[in-house]
Amino acid sequence: MNRKHQFPTPSPTGDKMIDLNFDRKNKAYQWTDPTTGEIFNFPGSGPAVKSEAWRFAISMLDPDIYQTAVSLIDRFPTLERVVWRGVERLLNGDVEILAAPVGDVVAMVASQSDVYGRHAIKNEDGYITCDCYAFVNMEAPLTPNGRRVCSHIAAYRLALTREERF
Ligand SMILES: [Zn+2]
Repeated sequence: MNRKHQFPTPSPTGDKMIDLNFDRKNKAYQWTDPTTGEIFNFPGSGPAVKSEAWRFAISMLDPDIYQTAVSLIDRFPTLERVVWRGVERLLNGDVEILAAPVGDVVAMVASQSDVYGRHAIKNEDGYITCDCYAFVNMEAPLTPNGRRVCSHIAAYRLALTREERF
């Protein structure tokens, strides 16, 4: 395996971003900036507040990928959910872009439903496909120009924008 084109596993921001605590007494999510030790509070409970806190943590830890995700979602609002899940996968170190395509396969992305499995991302004449359930069963959302995007493809696309900066 050519490690040169592999993303660091775990990435520098690694597991830190999902290190959210729920403060039961004050009913707030808390996130501690690992760099400064500063504690941020997000009053409330439930998934909306939790994801607000999670996104804030990403904006602090990895502003580049945060901005890329936000501008992608601005352009393609239907992709909001898969883009954030893609960010999570990318920062988890789940994406491996192949140094050279194998057939049509350009990248492998770790599967979260099967810890031993990975999904193959293919570039079929410019059309990006994935072999996961959401893509194959057409449950993954579409862009306005008819491109289907699952969280693995989102992670792959985010990884490409990152790689271009190196
Ligand atoms: Zn997929």
